[in-house]
Amino acid sequence: MKLIFLGPPGAGKGTQAAVISKRFGIAHISTGDILRENVSKKTDLGIQAQKYMEAGQLVPDDVIVAMVESRLQEKDCQEGFILDGFPRTVVQAEALDKLLEKLDIELDGIIYFDVPDEVVVKRLSGRRICKSCGAIYNIHSQPPKKDGVCDLCGGELYQRSDDEESVVMNRLKVYKELTAPLISYYEKSDKFIKVDASRDSSVVVEAIVEAVRK
Ligand code: AMP
Repeated sequence: MKLIFLGPPGAGKGTQAAVISKRFGIAHISTGDILRENVSKKTDLGIQAQKYMEAGQLVPDDVIVAMVESRLQEKDCQEGFILDGFPRTVVQAEALDKLLEKLDIELDGIIYFDVPDEVVVKRLSGRRICKSCGAIYNIHSQPPKKDGVCDLCGGELYQRSDDEESVVMNRLKVYKELTAPLISYYEKSDKFIKVDASRDSSVVVEAIVEAVRK
């Protein structure tokens, strides 16, 4: 199963990708996660990316495309993968088309997570993540049993600095300007699948799996 997850920040792409990749034993490629790991390890890539990420801006296309090109060639991608948060610009989508052709990879689906702005803002500002295992909670809709503590591993929960409200508004603006045009880029493909992502997370997962099966 080879999929692209497309949609605004906070649409639930990461949450659904984690569930589906585990269920089908395929790689979950989140460009945001790869960048955050590089930022925390203070690699050259991380140092270069950090200023963009903190401002809610996109990291330059060439940096991201090179990162994805090398990631797609890792062994765990052979069974399949989910691209979560990539492509995010038309330039990236064109580069991905070329890359897939070069690597002889055919996509099975482009899943578009359709969700209204107000849901996105509430989801992002309420999102909390476990420092140890990466589990995702939401203080409004899916709170942990104990405030600030992960139900699964007891780890400490934190809020991403770019989930603070002022940065969230900027990320949405950037999404509308640069990423939303990808809907028309992919819409004509018979692999384009639009999913109502404002529903409960477990319903959305099944809708995606069913649509891809069909
Ligand atoms: P995410 O976790 O997908 O919301 O990504 C967090 C941040 O990482 C974004 O706000 C961007 O600064 C950067 N980022 C992630 N993926 C990309 C991408 N495909 N292109 C450019 N920047 C990206």
